[in-house]
Amino acid sequence: MTHTELPRTLAPTERTRLRRMKEKASFERSDLEAILDAGFVCHLGVIVDGDPMVVPTVYGRDERNLYVHGSVASRSLVNAEGDDVDATICVTVTHVDGLVLARSVFEHGVNYRCAMIYGTPRRLVDDAEKTEGLRILTEHATPGQWDYARRPTRKELAATTVFALSLEEASVKIRTGAPDDGDSPDAALGLWAGTLPLTSRWGAPTADPALPSGITAPAHIVARAGTRQG
Ligand SMILES: Cc1cc2nc3c(=O)[nH]c(=O)nc-3n(C[C@H](O)[C@H](O)[C@H](O)COP(=O)(O)OP(=O)(O)OC[C@H]3O[C@@H](n4cnc5c(N)ncnc54)[C@H](O)[C@@H]3O)c2cc1C
Repeated sequence: MTHTELPRTLAPTERTRLRRMKEKASFERSDLEAILDAGFVCHLGVIVDGDPMVVPTVYGRDERNLYVHGSVASRSLVNAEGDDVDATICVTVTHVDGLVLARSVFEHGVNYRCAMIYGTPRRLVDDAEKTEGLRILTEHATPGQWDYARRPTRKELAATTVFALSLEEASVKIRTGAPDDGDSPDAALGLWAGTLPLTSRWGAPTADPALPSGITAPAHIVARAGTRQG
């Protein structure tokens, strides 16, 4: 496996070339990375026994790969007979930034940042590589937690499947701003139009009722309360 850096520009392939609303495409790898860093749940699309299956699952990333793990991912990714990765998968990560409320229903839309990644995932087999994949996943969702929580035992590691998907073939689509019908004949209708922004934030940590008294939430968890997610 080579460790050369991926290009900072996303080169469209036959699969990732936007056909509709091409002007919303971004070819900046930094935009892809920002979208991935703003979330931790992806939707993983795969063909299982001839049928499409789209599975929500958590992910992490480094400079080259997206990592997914667990039994859900493994059922959808692993060919039951050969224990091998089936074929190409498509992963999406979506952030909704608001509703776009136009004068006409036809022009209604959504402000969003969305990434789609295509590739053939690689199952990690080496213990060190698997552990690193799990560290990346854990730190992606909750920075600081890998050092705080108990790490996987060898037995737990053996029971966990981790896949790496290259971030090489990806597309990014972003919509921002006002409705598109402000300069159309519908502008004369006298209807309100605009955007209804949407943000999500982390709440205050809620202690497990099973916790003995005196154990307080660590700083890296407390610090997230009130911060934006997505
Ligand atoms: C939250 C949200 C809501 C949406 N709602 C609608 C809706 O109601 N109706 C509607 O028509 N469209 C909607 N879209 C846009 C939709 O995702 C597609 O981009 C659009 O429908 C074009 O689909 P297509 O199959 O013609 O894409 P094509 O342009 O043919 O797709 C070609 C390639 O472009 C890339 N691509 C396409 N869409 C995206 C994307 N969203 N993000 C990143 N890469 C992409 C992929 O690599 C894909 O393989 C929505 C998007 C988001 C994020």
